[in-house]
Amino acid sequence: MTFADLRQKLKSGEVSSKELVQEKILRIKQLDPKLNSFLSVNSEQALKQAEFIDNQRSAGEILPPLSGIPLAIKDNLCTKGIKTTCASKILEDFVPPYESTVTKRLLKSGAVMIGKTNMDEFAMGSSTETSAFGPTLNPWDISKVPGGSSGGSAASVAAGLCFGSLGSDTGGSIRQPASFCGVVGMKPTYGRVSRWGLIAFASSLDQVGPFANNVSDAAEILQVISGKDDFDSTTVDVPVPNYLDSLSKSIKGLKIGLIDNCFQHDGLAKDVKESVLSAASLLEKQGAEIINLSCPRFNDGIATYYVIAPSEASANLARYDGVKYGFRSDDPKSLIEMTSKSRAIGFGSEVKRRILIGTYALSAGYVDAYYKKAQQVRTLIRKDFDNAFKKVDILLAPTSPTTAFGSGENVDNPMAMYLSDLLTIPANLAGLPAISLPCGFDKTGLPIGLQLIGNVFDEAKLLQVASQYEIAADVFKNKPKSDFTF
Ligand code: GLN
Repeated sequence: MTFADLRQKLKSGEVSSKELVQEKILRIKQLDPKLNSFLSVNSEQALKQAEFIDNQRSAGEILPPLSGIPLAIKDNLCTKGIKTTCASKILEDFVPPYESTVTKRLLKSGAVMIGKTNMDEFAMGSSTETSAFGPTLNPWDISKVPGGSSGGSAASVAAGLCFGSLGSDTGGSIRQPASFCGVVGMKPTYGRVSRWGLIAFASSLDQVGPFANNVSDAAEILQVISGKDDFDSTTVDVPVPNYLDSLSKSIKGLKIGLIDNCFQHDGLAKDVKESVLSAASLLEKQGAEIINLSCPRFNDGIATYYVIAPSEASANLARYDGVKYGFRSDDPKSLIEMTSKSRAIGFGSEVKRRILIGTYALSAGYVDAYYKKAQQVRTLIRKDFDNAFKKVDILLAPTSPTTAFGSGENVDNPMAMYLSDLLTIPANLAGLPAISLPCGFDKTGLPIGLQLIGNVFDEAKLLQVASQYEIAADVFKNKPKSDFTF
């Protein structure tokens, strides 16, 4: 069911918003003790909100587009009066005094906020296993990870615990979990969506974006959250097109670039490669022209990212000092001891690793060799994309080199964990919009993600190609059995 179908049912009175919320709360109660995709469920407030919308509807008011639709929010987005933990002990009891711009816009559009979703601590991770509140499991196979860092937002949509959600993507955290959980996930152009109220990880890379069951729902969520925000000076004042309008347009004559070097990695699983290449053939059958091209610097993305992102994180996370807010250790003997103990206890090991790497890379004597060099390579990666977009409209690659890996498989091997973002990171470094959508299943029945990358502010074309593919491929027609019936 799409939001459009839901709207129809709500309008005709076949179902009320309260019933939708009740159904989701019940499902969360049944399934989430196992999945752990929510860190908090907002039952009371959600029901109140739904009732209010139902009353408005009965009174014949004209309602905004997402009215009465229950959505979930990643727990690194500030929600006024509702705990926002970033899945960290250091923010375990943090209740923001203000609302993030994106959630404010969703609320204004009538969406019902059903709860806050689990994630890797401070959005650092690719498996939702670094959460201080336990890992989220993959609803397709609970012995697998849901991806990360927005694993809770992806798993909750996949398991039918909400109709859509918000995540954040710094190096792949929307697209990779979307791919692992068989849902649609989109990272907008840097500057398209406000970061006000998003707890900062790496500010030059972070973007908020939607998870949904289908491309059209993702387009609707993006529509609502996009656009200039005076509270975030990095948002750009460019018109936001009507994304739904672009979905039905034919892709005939569009040029789609297949990034050669993404298909040549040793670690690329055979099933993933085949499935993504056959998605390209299907697009060709629909009239698109497939052009092979290479982005040679794409492969330097990981090394570049793992200097820039930790550097920015080390600066951003300096604010958790036990003084202003967040966890404070007991009985410190001095100010320094209070800060260091609070951070030692409050942060998990992956977060500490990033702070150490970042502090090192930014220190006098190393900043030119590491941080500055990484910024230069970042420019080269962007140039590769600029060159590619002179020849094509959209780029195509797998989202992740593999399907969902086993729980615990990579926890002690940060290098292997980092490599799972190999194909998503370049779009963040270049600030480009990119989407992941299901394109098939591997031999074991786990979903595979197709990644499409667009030029700056070209979300409309990205959604157009994704939607046309989704309709033609009808991937879920033969969906394999999973741990949950959904
Ligand atoms: N997995 C990547 C990391 O750990 C990306 C995370 C993200 O996009 N938030 O940094």
